[in-house]
Amino acid sequence: MTGTGGVYECHCHVALDGVDYRNARERHRNGPDEAWVRGVLDAYRRAGIRYVRDGGDKWGASALARRLAGEYGIEYASPVFPIYRKGDYGAFIGVPYETLSDLRELVARVRAEGGTLVKMMGSGIMDFDRLGAVTGFVPDQEELDELVRIAHGEGLPVMMHMNSADGIRRAVDAGVDSVEHGNYADRASLAAMADAGTLWVPTVSATVNLMGKGLFDEEALREILGMQESAIRLGHELGVTIACGSDAGASCVMHAEASLQEAERLGALLGGREPVMDGQEKLRARFPG
Ligand SMILES: [Zn+2]
Repeated sequence: MTGTGGVYECHCHVALDGVDYRNARERHRNGPDEAWVRGVLDAYRRAGIRYVRDGGDKWGASALARRLAGEYGIEYASPVFPIYRKGDYGAFIGVPYETLSDLRELVARVRAEGGTLVKMMGSGIMDFDRLGAVTGFVPDQEELDELVRIAHGEGLPVMMHMNSADGIRRAVDAGVDSVEHGNYADRASLAAMADAGTLWVPTVSATVNLMGKGLFDEEALREILGMQESAIRLGHELGVTIACGSDAGASCVMHAEASLQEAERLGALLGGREPVMDGQEKLRARFPG
């Protein structure tokens, strides 16, 4: 697809509908809802999106999407389910681990169930009531290192949900292949990503689409977006490879529509479509479907 100008969606959750994750829980209650999954794949196809990387879900929808995607002409990378540390962020969508041996077992399960990557929750999300704060705890360095070692040992790249400058640096040190969201990145964490060649999927759409909905404090959302956009510009200057992923499926983030919106927004921030196309191609190479 190089040169055709098509957008890739590098971070979505096919199981979710952009409205309420509880709908997904209902929808996929008796196994993944094939009609739903096909509908989302068709929306991506119609939008001209030929590569999708999913962040996974605990209901089997992402794995099913990967099996069906070929029928829609889509290359589909999937972790099957995201992995999170028990008691931390991720219970609504992921599968928990407590010990390193659980972690090993889960990574082996990802592989056995057709996963092409490991998705790990490394931190919580932004606390909209406390600007700069992130919910949840980042696992210690040893644990992050071990996760990446196990995943790479199975031949799987690692996509890590991570917010906070400190968390990003630790993820980069551990050798993750991509940092997801990465809100509150500072110059040092951006430089670390650039040096290590870590891909960054800043998912600005996830914040943009929450604005004006009366769900969170508008001022906080504006500030978070402003900080993320400044970080994207600085990251680009420092040489970070930035890829287009909207977090479609998350609250107020609609499949396919948000992917195109993300690409446009990133293009405006990075000074044109070329860096966006380049970033997504590098991500696709690192995370083949
Ligand atoms: Zn995700």
